[in-house]
Amino acid sequence: MTVITRFAPSPTGYLHIGGARTALFNWLYSRHHKGKVLLRIEDTDRQRSTEAAISAIIDGLNWLGLDFDAAPVFQFARAPRHAEVARSLLEKGRAYYCYCTPAELQAMRDQAKAEGKPMRYNGYWRDRDPREAPPGVAPVIRLKAPQSGETVVMDQVQGEVRVGNEQLDDMVLLRGDGTPTYMLSVVVDDHDMAITHVIRGDDHLTNTFRQVQLYQALDWHIPTFAHIPLIHGPDGAKLSKRHGALGVDAYRDMGYLPEALRNYLLRLGWAHGDDEIISTEQAIEWFDLPAVGRSPSRFDFAKLDNLNGHY
Ligand code: GLU
Repeated sequence: MTVITRFAPSPTGYLHIGGARTALFNWLYSRHHKGKVLLRIEDTDRQRSTEAAISAIIDGLNWLGLDFDAAPVFQFARAPRHAEVARSLLEKGRAYYCYCTPAELQAMRDQAKAEGKPMRYNGYWRDRDPREAPPGVAPVIRLKAPQSGETVVMDQVQGEVRVGNEQLDDMVLLRGDGTPTYMLSVVVDDHDMAITHVIRGDDHLTNTFRQVQLYQALDWHIPTFAHIPLIHGPDGAKLSKRHGALGVDAYRDMGYLPEALRNYLLRLGWAHGDDEIISTEQAIEWFDLPAVGRSPSRFDFAKLDNLNGHY
């Protein structure tokens, strides 16, 4: 099996260092296995995606020396394919039209809030005849998610993670205006791009359960997942600008060398003994997912400065 990984940034801002590290890990994993690494620009948020951000991301990746094995895939352009897959699930009886009105959904939200629980769609239209639909409501398409049992993910970094299916509701796949949701787009694109390993930040871990349910409904092969802990500041809190939450271009402008930043990002969450300076060839030879730590790594400018002095 050829390993195929991908980096899938949303072009709503610069390439931040967390994203750069995710791209690096995907790149190294594929190079280690003599596979491929692909770039997918997730530009479905039409309000926030910009051409400037797309250029900044591509320039940042180039500057870091991370190359890709095919031209980028643009997710928005694939929306008709995503809608087609949602409709195929309707035909298979694995999804259904939901005609709930905004007021009904709001009532569910209010009830969940009153009970101190996250909002769960109550399955109202799951087994109802669409002929009972109120006039004038553009329906969404929802997945018929399993209502009992568990969804289990064997994550290469986090180990085995599981959730009771009663905790997940019937997610929306296609909105009333015909646009696909992120959950649908990401699964269809990863499948169509033949991605074998999904390596991304662990802020996506909870989405993975829903994505696995979708793969199962489609009878598609489920990729291997690896969720990398996020980068925190030296104080252990979410990384702030002052502590390094900057674009890769800002590091370049501050005079850091791409080799130094790359070496630093490699060692942020992954280690090979006490080795500090690791060449690209060594990184490709040694990189592996189980060696990625499970706790958040701490960004430290002093260590980066120190490394920068070595190059
Ligand atoms: N576009 C998502 C993000 O930038 C990543 C999606 C994924 O890796 O599955 O956070």
